Amino acid sequence: MKETLKILVVDDDEVDRMAVSLVLKNAGVCMELSEASDHNHALSALENTNFDCVFLDSSLPNQDSFTLIHKLHSLKIRVPLVILAAQEEKQIAVELLQAGATDYLIKSQLNSDILAHTLRNAIRLYRAEIKADLAYQQLKESSEKLIQKNQELEKQRQQIQLQNLKLLEASQLKSQFLATISHELRTPMNAIIGFSQILLRPKFGQLSHQQGDMVERILNNGKHLLMLLNEVLDFSKLEAGKLEIKPEIFDLSKIVNNTVAEIRSLAEAKNLSLLVEINLENTLVFNDPVRIRQILINLLSNAVKFTEYGGIRVEVAEISQNQLAITIQDTGIGISHQDFKHIFEAFQQVDQGISRKYPGTGLGLAIINSLLQMMGGKVFLESQLGVGSVFKIELPRQITTSPHNGDNYSSLNLGSDDGFYYSHQNPPYLPFEFNKVSLGYPHLRL
Ligand code: ADP
Repeated sequence: MKETLKILVVDDDEVDRMAVSLVLKNAGVCMELSEASDHNHALSALENTNFDCVFLDSSLPNQDSFTLIHKLHSLKIRVPLVILAAQEEKQIAVELLQAGATDYLIKSQLNSDILAHTLRNAIRLYRAEIKADLAYQQLKESSEKLIQKNQELEKQRQQIQLQNLKLLEASQLKSQFLATISHELRTPMNAIIGFSQILLRPKFGQLSHQQGDMVERILNNGKHLLMLLNEVLDFSKLEAGKLEIKPEIFDLSKIVNNTVAEIRSLAEAKNLSLLVEINLENTLVFNDPVRIRQILINLLSNAVKFTEYGGIRVEVAEISQNQLAITIQDTGIGISHQDFKHIFEAFQQVDQGISRKYPGTGLGLAIINSLLQMMGGKVFLESQLGVGSVFKIELPRQITTSPHNGDNYSSLNLGSDDGFYYSHQNPPYLPFEFNKVSLGYPHLRL
């Protein structure tokens, strides 16, 4: 269906108005035509009706054609405006275009084709402008919304950053607290151990069997407590990046044999065999003997602690000229695959219950893992419930530590490029990937 256009013709000359109306009719324009003889009538008509197009005489008295255009502009009334000008008024028509009119026609050249064509173009242009304005408006709104969203995001980011700082501060306070407490407790603990040892010496007087038994218990419990305190202290030092590796050249076979000898009485007390096999052509290594001993003591005491029958086997071998492996294998209770990840996290144990059978802080493996990372080593675990466990550590024969070792772990070479540690051995022991296991040390990458 043809669209009916609302058209307003503004001209003080009635004949001219009739002429325009006639040409429009001849052009076959389907329309509702309104007429106005001056700018006041035109304005009130335009305020009340949405016209599709206005034909405006260029020379209304008192420059009213200009006044009308300006008024429409100030009232924000938008409508396509076609100026009708006499031949000699071409300059005025151009000025009216500059003031905001859409197009102009010369009255003497008016015919139905030109008029219909100009009308169509003016309406098309006007509608395109409206669409463009609408799109621009929507774009502006979206961009404002985006800016607002960005501001909100930025605010959230700042809040998260603030919370992170608070968390970091809390974590540092916790580490400091742990370090202070364990350090302070170590002094009286050493006194308890020292005085119990003195009491047990015969030259300080003979104790009754019962008294001797009690002092011995005090001594053993004191030693155990001291070991736990040392673990907590090491852990807090690691967390604070204050634990240092002090490398020197030493004989690895001696350290392994001495550590095994220290543990032997514990194994014998449980009727467990304890075998050592050292297959090294060159037994010298460059590492921190205290920390290597600490790692071995931890793994060996775990092996004894979690084994009820059978035994423990320690093997030291050369993987390559600069790469060594120490394997500690037990026939103990084993670890289920789903617990592999957790037990390397700080304070995590397979049995976390209050009435748990096996004592400990749950820090040993976390400390071992961190120490090995500082040494450029790796730890592998293979285990099967009820069958046993194999903890295998791989180490460079000669470690390289950063000059600020202990201050900044991220600068240390932490082993494999992709962070994947895996085992090549087949069942019965299941391979374990340490990939992205977190020990709760924010500055350490596994
Ligand atoms: P802790 O021995 O003080 O509990 P660790 O970090 O040394 O802490 O060990 C964490 C947990 O890993 C242990 O509580 C135990 O559940 C498990 N685990 C470690 N070594 C063995 C092992 N050889 N056999 C069985 N379970 C083990």
